[in-house]
Amino acid sequence: MFENRLFGTNGIRGLANVELTPEFALKVAAAIGTFFEAGKIVVGCDGRTSSPMLKSAVISRLTSTGCRVYDAGMVPTPALQYAVRAYGMDGGVMITASHNPPEYNGVKVMASDGVELPRELEMEVERIFFEDGFRRAEWSSVGDVLKLPGVLETYAEAVMKHVDRDAISSARPKVVVDAGNGVSALVYPSILGRLGCRVVAINSNVDGRFPGRPPEPRPENLTALSSAVKFEGADLGVAYDGDGDRAIFSDERGVIHWGDRSFALVEKAFLSENPGEVVVTPVSSSKVVEDVASEYGGKVLWTKVGSVTVSRTMLRVGAKLGGEENGGVFYGPHQPVRDGAMTTALILEILAKEGRRLSEMLEELPKYCQLKDKVPCPEELKQPVLEELRRRVSGARVETLDGVKVWFDDGSWILVRPSGTEPIYRLYAEASTEERVAQVVEEFKQILSEIISSVKS
Ligand code: MG
Repeated sequence: MFENRLFGTNGIRGLANVELTPEFALKVAAAIGTFFEAGKIVVGCDGRTSSPMLKSAVISRLTSTGCRVYDAGMVPTPALQYAVRAYGMDGGVMITASHNPPEYNGVKVMASDGVELPRELEMEVERIFFEDGFRRAEWSSVGDVLKLPGVLETYAEAVMKHVDRDAISSARPKVVVDAGNGVSALVYPSILGRLGCRVVAINSNVDGRFPGRPPEPRPENLTALSSAVKFEGADLGVAYDGDGDRAIFSDERGVIHWGDRSFALVEKAFLSENPGEVVVTPVSSSKVVEDVASEYGGKVLWTKVGSVTVSRTMLRVGAKLGGEENGGVFYGPHQPVRDGAMTTALILEILAKEGRRLSEMLEELPKYCQLKDKVPCPEELKQPVLEELRRRVSGARVETLDGVKVWFDDGSWILVRPSGTEPIYRLYAEASTEERVAQVVEEFKQILSEIISSVKS
């Protein structure tokens, strides 16, 4: 691991104190600090057991390169990203492994616009890392370490100003919030309370062992949320991932919905008020995103999979809205990054203004059956397999923006792409019936396995 690359799809990730040791964090911070050339850097961390250990190492080595460090403490990732811009920083570093299991940790690096570094700048940091050409400041210009209090409050105010607080507080919705023992517990429930919701918080103590549930808000991990919504008679349930950038919703019946459906609701409301706008989403998202866009006069811009690509594309084309199937909504007027609290506030505003149930509103959206699967594939075979796959596929429409996406005449589709972080191929498919989606996935699993064994020999 980390032999010639540091960054995966979302920053640097590894097993805490095994791969991501303090020594390794020192070296990563040496490269980051050299890259930022004695700039002002805000540093924050999530609530993982290894986060203070890694944060200390990162801060130490950043100041050694001459950077001035502002310590934001324990904060959700979107709050750290907001602070980078709000306080005029040159960059930001967040110690987090997002939704990964408790034994992991990671490092995300933000540019001065609060968005993670684009790939070409990540490569610059990697080049510095592997060349060992680190800055070391003179004794007189070693950086300071200053506390940066108030990051959570600045962030909370920013989120709240983008929604109609009067509408939400008049509706007084009852909301069950499941922070999953993650760092969002520090501020998201209080934001919802201040917006006028009646809040019931579960798993709301920050605990790096994640005793309540795994940090990834997948439907199978959210049975406690679902039960609590029913038991409390709540209007809405929401669960966040470990660092609070993704939000997954439960309707009032306790049914958990995937992120591209809640995103489609936000998209519908947004396009109703801003017709003609561009909406950015990765090729793995449901066709519902396109259906809503064509009905409400918007245009979808499809990107490669990865939140940084969505953010960077939004900035490049001036788009105000982006979204992912995993529960990431990017609301440009606030900040063009995934933001769990902003997403929740937008959904609450929609419910309040419409005065209807979440289940009803989701029911009105075009419905598709989705299926995800994976096929093991050794790292070194990924590229030749992809080339062979591209040669073989046929369909009504084939797209090769990221992996291979095949559209069929009946409107169903499958996306087959090599994972950026694991030795597997990921398959995402969508069709109008369960049978059809299963059939498409089965067919492509077979094609893929055939290609893998033929390329091997
Ligand atoms: Mg996350």
